[in-house]
Amino acid sequence: MDNGIAHGVIYLISFIFLILTSQYFKTSFINLMQMKGIFHCSLLLIALLPTCLLAQEPPVAAAYNDQIDQLLQHPAVKQAFALIEAQDSITVADNILLTEIEAPPFKEMVRAEKFADMLRAAGIDSVWIDSEGNVLALRKGTEGKRTVALDAHLDTVFPEGTDVSVQMRGDTIYAPGVGDDTRGLAMLLTIARSMRDIRIRTKDDVLFVGSVGEEGLGDLRGVKHLFSEAGPGIDAWISIDGGSLGRVNTKALGSHRYRVTFHGPGGHSWGAFGLANPHHALGAAIHNFTKAADSFTKSGPRTSYNVGVISGGTSVNSIPFESIMEVDMRSESPASLLKMDTILQQAVQEALEEQNGIRRRGPELTVTLDRIGDRPSGELSSELPLIQRAMAALQPFGESPSLTRGSTNSNIPISLGIPAVTIGRGGDGGNAHSLDEWYLNVEGYKAVQYALLLLVAEAGLGQE
Ligand SMILES: [Zn+2]
Repeated sequence: MDNGIAHGVIYLISFIFLILTSQYFKTSFINLMQMKGIFHCSLLLIALLPTCLLAQEPPVAAAYNDQIDQLLQHPAVKQAFALIEAQDSITVADNILLTEIEAPPFKEMVRAEKFADMLRAAGIDSVWIDSEGNVLALRKGTEGKRTVALDAHLDTVFPEGTDVSVQMRGDTIYAPGVGDDTRGLAMLLTIARSMRDIRIRTKDDVLFVGSVGEEGLGDLRGVKHLFSEAGPGIDAWISIDGGSLGRVNTKALGSHRYRVTFHGPGGHSWGAFGLANPHHALGAAIHNFTKAADSFTKSGPRTSYNVGVISGGTSVNSIPFESIMEVDMRSESPASLLKMDTILQQAVQEALEEQNGIRRRGPELTVTLDRIGDRPSGELSSELPLIQRAMAALQPFGESPSLTRGSTNSNIPISLGIPAVTIGRGGDGGNAHSLDEWYLNVEGYKAVQYALLLLVAEAGLGQE
């Protein structure tokens, strides 16, 4: 149920309960509200109880709260928490060091090699870079029946040559990519170091991942590779990517992106008049597409569409030889996304036929649709152990979970039904994907502690 509706229902139940209570004590609702004294206060509290119980949505089963409580009492976890807090400045230093190594889309190699070295220095002896460019570091478990991955992405949205030097203004760190997602990489290092120093062994294998291609045209290529046939076999996936402690991303917002290009011979606007015109076809395609897409997206799961880039043509008196648009479509629902795909294909095809039909000379136009982005959507049940643990593990930090939908590396495992969450990098930050991105380390260590707690809860604590 939608959060807003759920809360509405809860408040309605509480209100009815208050009315019934006031009837029972033969007093008015207003009187009951105004009555003083412990007895009547207790009545009010009882009336509000359903709100308190149900407002925490979705519920966390007692077994997972118990597991987290037990872990928090465990000496190893206590020591690791203390160490993570003590190493706060090292986490920040690692964050700065890695931020200043640029990692443009498709060119993450230099940062990847440095990150691999840092993982080795953090005590993991099995570290390698796979054929896609992902950095993988395996920490064997005592049983090794499952593999739990902890991921942050190496790449940034910034092109090669961007000034990535860090500027400090007060305590605030300014640099492109500092929070998204270099902070996540630094958190992985601190977690690996503290597991080594406290000698924490997990039952399951833990795979630390520095992934490539999370942003933009990278199109999740790193994580797609990891969950392909060629991947290492991952049973549970935890990404650290953006956002504050408390946000747990369990739903994937899917998107399809296309570059549509109409091709024709091109020619003089007067001398070659009558040739099929790619721009005219593109205009018709946009018209057909937006008209059909508008009516389709008015109801049903939330779905969006956008023509974001149009290009082509040489001069006002030339019939262009090509006309290009880039289209982005997103939906909460895989079925709606597929339907949008069909709507676009049909709109383009109809525009092509129409333009070719009215041409007076020359060859037909052709069209190519290149898929430049494909991120699947999906949603996991909040009853999955990983998600239950992700919620339960927030309680010691005084945070109530909000289960969100986003477009992150977790899209891939979520779409495959593999348990996955994306959790926050903590602290405070903003202006992600812009040159004045910033991060302020306000109790940032808590997000590191949280990530460790969740990792250990999911992978199980083994005997040292
Ligand atoms: Zn990110």
